[in-house]
Amino acid sequence: MTNFKNEPVRDFSKESNKEWISDSISKTRALFPIFVPAIVSGKEIKNLKTQSHQNPARQKETVSQYLLSDIEVLQKAITASKAGFRSWRGRSSQERISILLKTADLIAENKNELCALMLLETGKNIPEAEADLVEAVDFCRYYATEYERIVRGQRVDLPGEENFYSYKPKGIVGVIAPWNFPAAILTGMCAAPLVCGNAVLLKPAEQSSAIALYLYRLFLKAGVPPEVFHFLPGRGEEIGAEIVKHPEVAVINFTGSREVGLSILRECGNVKPGSRIVKRALCEMGGKNPMIVDGDADLDLAVEGAIHSAFGFQGQKCSALSRLIVLDSCYDTFRARFIEAVSSLNVDSPEILASKIGPVIDLESKNRLETILQEHKNFIVFQKEIPDRLKETGHYVPPTIFESHDWKGDLANKEFFGPIVTLFRVRNFTEAIERANDSDYALTAGLYSRNPDHTREAKETIEAGNLYINRAITGAIVERQPFGGYKLSGVGAKAGGPDYLKSFLEPVTITENTMRRGFSAELIQ
Ligand code: NAD
Repeated sequence: MTNFKNEPVRDFSKESNKEWISDSISKTRALFPIFVPAIVSGKEIKNLKTQSHQNPARQKETVSQYLLSDIEVLQKAITASKAGFRSWRGRSSQERISILLKTADLIAENKNELCALMLLETGKNIPEAEADLVEAVDFCRYYATEYERIVRGQRVDLPGEENFYSYKPKGIVGVIAPWNFPAAILTGMCAAPLVCGNAVLLKPAEQSSAIALYLYRLFLKAGVPPEVFHFLPGRGEEIGAEIVKHPEVAVINFTGSREVGLSILRECGNVKPGSRIVKRALCEMGGKNPMIVDGDADLDLAVEGAIHSAFGFQGQKCSALSRLIVLDSCYDTFRARFIEAVSSLNVDSPEILASKIGPVIDLESKNRLETILQEHKNFIVFQKEIPDRLKETGHYVPPTIFESHDWKGDLANKEFFGPIVTLFRVRNFTEAIERANDSDYALTAGLYSRNPDHTREAKETIEAGNLYINRAITGAIVERQPFGGYKLSGVGAKAGGPDYLKSFLEPVTITENTMRRGFSAELIQ
């Protein structure tokens, strides 16, 4: 039996843990632009249109040139998956588990190169990229361990009757991944269906296709057969939508925006004549995550947790804090300390280890966020300056604090997915909980409090898939904090938790009457 242990995160205050950084960045940069083909049955497909993605911190630097997969590529991948699926699911569970454990080891061994590529492709800073990769390693090891547990099934045998309850893989799984956790989320979304014996079609996000290609190759190197794992880069609304529509794809494993997630759910419910499956969809979507700061909270801790939660990876996390709900009795003190702390955040290139705030993912995102800042400029109470040298080269958006009393407007309700947080003042704890729950979303939530009654009340009443008390609300760790939301934040089992693998499995019960009435004559020798 394999025992799961979380992979440790490197301590970057130690010199020995930093030596690789500049060397790995230069070696990675020397490969640019990285051509990202489609790969079906191990064969690269190159002769289609491409699109490029630029380094968010240096808009003139092209990181990747990714292929726009089309329906023909998809059809080839489906045909190959159907042929390869039989032998993959027929392999012993131990073989698939070993392949996943090997994938984890390969990701851990290649962490420096993956980290360098991630910071250049997505603008994630070095400690956050490290955490992303460590989580990818954890997902592989955790799902390997979990599969070992699940695959044993359940036996209930009586005299004359044997009953076995177990699981079979569902078939072809379409994985549609986001760019914001380009290693962890993508790896987990593929590792789980693969270890269960499914075939996987991977559609990476446009903005992180190169790192997706790197990870995909590590899966194959570890032993996943190319016939059951195909790589289909391209535009979401084109190849992504085709995967969703395809009648032979049994499960869509999606993480991304609410708009796309809801459209996928509608499409999956639309069973076409002739189709023999009801497509299942796991959709992990957005959040408008609240944090309550209670009157007696430890404000030093609360300020630190709020900053980390709101501005980590420039607020581009589904778990990011966006509604900071502070009790009247400590509001003014908290507000002053919070503004002071945000003013001292280090905005710099992600290539600099000390950088806390980097660029947002692309120009489209920058323009969208600047429009939000402009439309709500009267609510701004603090905005961190971006140095000119950065503004000229990359997609930097100033970390911004808004203050509002309007619970109906966008500041309280709309996911921004950027370095923006809004302060709200409430009269008392009851109002704080009511406001926190008054949302379409239920992904993460936080409470800073030293009052045991309030802590208890929050545990019972706050609507969130992940509630954090007296700590930051981002950075869920595999197995310790299985992750995922409900309401309009998502449907599906929690990633990194004990129910996740079952989404890719068909439970079956086999009952055999063992009170045999004689034997087949021709089988008796
Ligand atoms: P997005 O929905 O635009 O894209 C996500 C993926 O879907 C990409 O691979 C994209 O190419 C693909 N896609 C886009 N349109 C599609 C379509 N019509 N059909 C099929 N696929 C399509 O999201 P994004 O902007 O890349 O990511 C940000 C969003 O993701 C935020 O809302 C964030 O909260 C959410 N997110 C949620 C979680 C979670 O676990 N709940 C984790 C990360 C990100």
